[in-house]
Amino acid sequence: MNQKRNIKDLDFNELEGYILEKKLPKFRTQQIFEWIFKDVEDFGSMKNLPKNVIEQLEADFYIGRAKILRKQSSSVDGTRKYLFEMEDGNTVECVLMEYSYGKTACISTQIGCKMSCTFCASTMDGLVRHLSCGEMIEEVMAISRDIGDRISNIVLMGMGEPFDNYDEVMKFLKLVNSSKGLNIGQRHITISTSGIVPKIFEFADAQMQCNLAISLHAADNETRNVLMPVNKKYNIDKLIEACRYYVNKTNRRITYEYSLIKDINDDLEAAESLGKLLKGQLCHVNLIPMNSVEGKEFEKPGKEKVAKFKSVLDKYGIETTIRRELGTDIDAACGQLRRRDSEMVTV
Ligand code: SAH
Repeated sequence: MNQKRNIKDLDFNELEGYILEKKLPKFRTQQIFEWIFKDVEDFGSMKNLPKNVIEQLEADFYIGRAKILRKQSSSVDGTRKYLFEMEDGNTVECVLMEYSYGKTACISTQIGCKMSCTFCASTMDGLVRHLSCGEMIEEVMAISRDIGDRISNIVLMGMGEPFDNYDEVMKFLKLVNSSKGLNIGQRHITISTSGIVPKIFEFADAQMQCNLAISLHAADNETRNVLMPVNKKYNIDKLIEACRYYVNKTNRRITYEYSLIKDINDDLEAAESLGKLLKGQLCHVNLIPMNSVEGKEFEKPGKEKVAKFKSVLDKYGIETTIRRELGTDIDAACGQLRRRDSEMVTV
């Protein structure tokens, strides 16, 4: 039986390969590609294609469209959280954030996650499956469709570990960036990893201009082993070595994410360790006060403690920002995305 494929899973070359295999004129590739990114719902709407091409496409493909199952808007800052249904019935969460510089889509790269970070909601049910490139494209397009506006920035900070789904994520990044695709500049895309070291090397060699963020959360192995089991495989030394390689290779600054957890990694000693670890590196530290997750006991430190932590890093000459928390009233803040969500409004 002919298994239909999501046409959004194909990059330009793959679609061209298909067109040539079917002995259709090469220029159809460009036309079809344009229609896909114009967000048509069906092949019949591809108005400049003859009937035989439309029928051929219909026989082999479907146009994947993430359906909004639920949507929740923050009354505080306009952040929106989406629950999308994918073709196979699995659901995925995404967040839209509005900043002065544009609209940022925070998208998921996997359904669930296997990294088991102890403070994160996305990993509580383990990994269900990877998302394909086309499904990730669909997350962005579905948000854009809903808000009736262009997405200017993408952060791969939703559910999942992007480097555990490396090939599809790379394909997605290239399609997002391509002028034939979503045409979003690489510098407007941020990929965040828990620290899968071999993939950081690979990503450095790929010479992408995207921003790389590392979820560090502790500067000593003892604490990081507990918070992030990935550290037992790739400890801090190995991680920092990979990060240095990345910076040397790309000349791009790395962002270290450090979620501050009360009484766990928020004291001055921890700040000193972090300062010593990162001193002199081309980097930026983003301090994120821990967001509470139902069923987890972690709490955020008070504002003063956060400020003190920052002042230590300042002393080491490390550029540091305290992340503004968006969407906290709808559990859309970092690490709170979780598949089963009954609180959201059904649309
Ligand atoms: N797997 C990738 C992408 C997740 S991005 C990664 O680990 O980087 C989401 C960011 O939010 C990560 O830095 C993650 O460690 C952090 N995070 C997870 N749960 C959180 C929580 N409850 N509060 C604050 N930050 C959290």
